[in-house]
Order: sequence, then C-alpha cells, then structure tokens
Amino acid sequence: MRDWKFNDVDFSSFPYYHGDDLGVSYTKEKTKIRVWAPTAKELELRIYQHSNEGEAIRIDQFIKAEYGTWTIAINGDLNGYFYTIRVNDGEWLNETPGIDARAVGANGNRGLFFNPEDTNPEGWLADQRVECANPVDAIIYELHVRDFSIAPSSGIINKGKFLAFTEQGTLSPQGLKTGTDHLKELGITHVHLLPTSDYSTVDEYAPGQSYNWGYDPKNFNAPEGSYSSNPDTTSRVAELKMLVQSLHQAGIGVILDVVYNHTALTRRSFLNQTVPGYYYRQKPDGTFSNASGCGNELASERAMVRKYLLDSLQYWATEFHIDGFRFDLMGIFDIETMNLIRARMNTISPEILLYGEGWTADTSPLDETNRAIKTNVTKLDRIAVFNDDFRDGIKGNNFNPRSKGFVSGQTIQEETIKFGITAACFHPQIVYGYVDRSKSPWASEPWQCVNYASCHDNYTLYDKLIMSSPEASDKEIERMVMMAGALVLTSQGIPFLHAGVEMARTKLGDHNSYKSPDRTNQIEWNRKHTFSEVFKYYQSLIRLRKNHPAFRMTSSEQIREHLIFSDDYMPGVASYVLVNRANDDNWRTILIVFNGNKNSIQFPLAGHIKWRLVAENATIDEESTIYPEGDEIEVPGISMLMLVED
Ligand code: CA
Repeated sequence: MRDWKFNDVDFSSFPYYHGDDLGVSYTKEKTKIRVWAPTAKELELRIYQHSNEGEAIRIDQFIKAEYGTWTIAINGDLNGYFYTIRVNDGEWLNETPGIDARAVGANGNRGLFFNPEDTNPEGWLADQRVECANPVDAIIYELHVRDFSIAPSSGIINKGKFLAFTEQGTLSPQGLKTGTDHLKELGITHVHLLPTSDYSTVDEYAPGQSYNWGYDPKNFNAPEGSYSSNPDTTSRVAELKMLVQSLHQAGIGVILDVVYNHTALTRRSFLNQTVPGYYYRQKPDGTFSNASGCGNELASERAMVRKYLLDSLQYWATEFHIDGFRFDLMGIFDIETMNLIRARMNTISPEILLYGEGWTADTSPLDETNRAIKTNVTKLDRIAVFNDDFRDGIKGNNFNPRSKGFVSGQTIQEETIKFGITAACFHPQIVYGYVDRSKSPWASEPWQCVNYASCHDNYTLYDKLIMSSPEASDKEIERMVMMAGALVLTSQGIPFLHAGVEMARTKLGDHNSYKSPDRTNQIEWNRKHTFSEVFKYYQSLIRLRKNHPAFRMTSSEQIREHLIFSDDYMPGVASYVLVNRANDDNWRTILIVFNGNKNSIQFPLAGHIKWRLVAENATIDEESTIYPEGDEIEVPGISMLMLVED
C-alpha cells in the first residue's frame, strides 16, 4: 500500500511540456491523445462502447514521448466511443477519463470521443461576447443553473437545464416574465453561473434525487451532465453553448464560477491518478495540505499545474465564448499564476472579467505575500476581489444571524458604508479605524472591488434581515432589502447581486444550502408578484446606474476628486455629493442620503442649488420634476434619498 506522502519528491525537477496538444485531438480519420505523465512506466488506453458499463472493446499502449508525455494514435472514426486512461507508475492506478476530457459519459467516469464542431448551435460562429469597456460597467447577477428554472412557478419547460435559458416568453402564474426574459427586464449585464463544469455529487441519470451547488469538481474541462438533456452524449457541450448564445442574444454576458482550487476527491481524483502528488500542495510531512477545507489544494505555482489552469481557462473562454471567470477561493492561487491568467485572457479579449474570493478556507503552505488574497489585490493585474467589509456593514456579520447592519439600523457602521461607496479605495474623509473589518483601504482602483450584500453562501439577504430584526414589520424588511440594493448599485466598484434578491429571495432560513433540496434553493417566481415593489426598485436602480457614469468612475483619483462626504456626523446616516459632472455625467451634482434609521431625519440642503428630487422612499424617477424648497429636507426611515442638479 502506498502512503501518499511526497516529502522525498522534487516536483520542480519534473519536465515541462510546452505543446498545446494535451488531451484528445479528434479527426474523422484518426484520433490522437497526448498525456503528461512523467512518473508513468506504462500507460494504457481502453475504448468502450458504453459510458459506465461493459468491458473494453480494445486496449492499447501509449508510447513514451518528449518532456514527460505519452502519445497514442488510433486510426478510424472514434466519434461516440468512450475511453479511459490508466497509469502504471510502479503499480496500476485507477482508470480515469484523463484530466483534459472535454466530454464525458454520465457521471464523468469515462471520456467521450467527439467532433467539437458538431456541438456548435446554428449561428454559433457569429456569436460574440458582450461589450464591457470597464469592469465597473458590469452589473453581475449570481445564479445557479438549476435554481433558475426548477420551480413550477418558472413556467419553463426545460426545468433545471442549460436549455431553460433558451426559452422565451415564459411567465409566472401571475403573468410576469420569468427566465431569460426576466433577466432582460431587470437589466443586469452579466450572469455569473455557479459551477457548470462536471462535479461529483448529483447522479446525472437521476438529478431529481439530489441537489448540489457544484463545488465538488470532477472533470474541469467538461460541462456538468445533470444540466444537459442527455448526460451520455455531447448535449452537455452543445447545450451550454446554446445557453451562452441565448444570453448573448439578450445582451447579457456569461461568467463562469471556476473551482480549480481543489478537487472533490484527493487520492482518487483524476489529477492524482495521473501524476500522483504533483497537482496538490503538501505539508512539510509530505501529506496533502488543505487550504480549501475540502481535503486538498491545487499547487498553482508548479509549472504544469499553471499550464493546466491557463489552457483550461483558454478552452472555456474560446470554445464557449465566455465573458468572465469568478475564482472560488482565489487566495489559494499564487499571484504570478493569476497575472499569467490575465495575460492569457488578454490574448482572447482584454474585456474578459476576472474576480474571485480573496481568501482561503484554511491555512496554506504558500506564503501569504504570494497569495491572491484581498490585501494583495493591488499586485494583481486587473483582477477584482469581493468586498466582504461592505457586505457585513450593510446587513451585519455574515455568520451571526442576530448581528444587524446599517440597513437594519445599526449605527457605527457609517464608515464601513463609506468604505464600500468608495470601492475600498483610499478617501481622505474616511476614518479607517472605524471600518468594521479592514482598517485600511485595500484597493487602489475601483475595478478591483466587487461590492455585494449577499451571494449563494450564507443566509439570503431577506432571511438574514428577518433573523436579525425580528421586531421589524414586513414593510420594513422590504425597505431594508431595497436599501441594500441602493447601496450596492450606486456605489463605486463592480456591483454584484445574488439572483432573486430583487424579489426578496428566501432559502427558508437555510444558511448553507449547498445540498439542500430544490424547494429551499429554487427561485420562487411567485415572489416577483408578492414583492413587486422590490423588483421595480431594483430595476430602477439598475437603469439609474447604466444611465449615469457618475456611479461608475474608472479611477480612485476621479473618486477622490468628485465624491465628497458630508462632514456632519448623524448616527445611522451616510451621505455624499458627486460634484462637477463626475465621469462626464449629465447631472452636474448628485446628492445621496442613506438613512438606515427606522425614523425619518431632517437633512440640511445647500440653499444656492436648485435641487431636483429623483429618488425618495420606494421610488426612483430620473425624469422627476419635483423641486424641493427650503434649507432642509425630510429623509424617510430605511431609505435612499437622491437629489440632483442638472
Ligand atoms: Ca457530474
């Protein structure tokens, strides 16, 4: 029995393979495969008729080739056949689809030979990414493929599938738009999909029997089969392309949540069964380290791991026309690798969005100065991180259900709110000692900061507010959800919304629903009717942000020049003006007051300006013709007030 310890292995001495032909290269006449397996003594290819059953119909040996690779070429058309690869590095390891498989049979145990061109939907070659001149122009909407359509109230036929995104004219029982039509109506610019590459847990033959978010990766280069109409075919590839095409036709970009930081299995993962130990970091005693909290962590700094990441991302970006990537536990990756990813993406499109979680789940042997964590974001090349300071300032501590935030009336959160408004960039009017978590600005430019109030993790915003404010009325909770949206969508930086927040999404009080049933996770479309005021408000906020570049300044210098906070401290209130047509806005001056208190306040107005009231209570009207007079104005409780000077 091997002990799976690697303290006597010098992984840096392993040969590096430069070529771009790793994995399967298919033609009708011949199929070639190249595998990097420098520790292998023998390598075997098995070809099968079926995805999971039956004996191999032929077994062939790979031939040792250059730089640690092994190759094989099989004559004839292998389209539709399945295969596995098996390494002998002194003893025979398990059969795997290899680590580069782009299509697999159901549940991802065998690779599937296919002709990539056959997976292109009609008109695919004309499909293009959406335009996004600056990351702060994006309005990101984080969505799980299955949650989007699985509820009966979605009115969608292909429930839980990639194809749900291709349906048009779908309606809720109350006749309101659902599905992709809803996304268009809401106005978001990018859909960020929770993991769409093959993951382990859900049985692809019976997806209805279990649920998972998908942070348990199995095959990094093949789409997940439970979202396809037939997991034993290339439909998983073709239908993901159809999803992308449909969203692009709706003017919406597609961002993939990628979970390269770990694999669901460790010893038995396909990476480890191909080159034992190489793909993961080890502790000094030679055992696997675990910064992911899932049993292992990818060793991104090793040459062939880095190449694997770069090639995999390039494949997704080019083959599926992807508009951006969100890196799960990005803090596990080293800075140099992340910057090489940026450089590789630039060769495809410099507009591809890159952002991630600037933290790890546990300790890593990689030195903190080399990690792609939040406090190192200025060392990253056009890659953003999530602003958890703002998140907690808005609604209260993410992990403590009772903790309140600014929108639920918690005072002393004002500086944290200002920290979010300025996208974690330095601003001379912020007293950083009072910011809830970070005691100094960590971003140098606004496009390094993703601002959000909630995401798939932890309680939904609505559930969190209900739990932390049991005394609040239904109306007050609604107002809090709306004000959180106002904070995220008017602040500098990149705004990010958890799908369904615009209809006060609930997960029935479940704080970690990664394997909870559909009835917990699904977007319940009846709520679009119940919370119609919330929906309309989010829609208006998104329109406001798109119409007004003042909310999307592209540099921190611009922010410091045009954004002035009010000097007078009022508990539970944050307010500022954007002056001198910030970022060439057609509004000369914009005054915004956020009142997190339950009761209204009187706010002083500068007498010499002819203010026009564009947002009050639950209403935003950019064309309003209300001109308040007097030297002060009432700001209702739990709301945003906005006045402008044209
Ligand atoms: Ca799967």
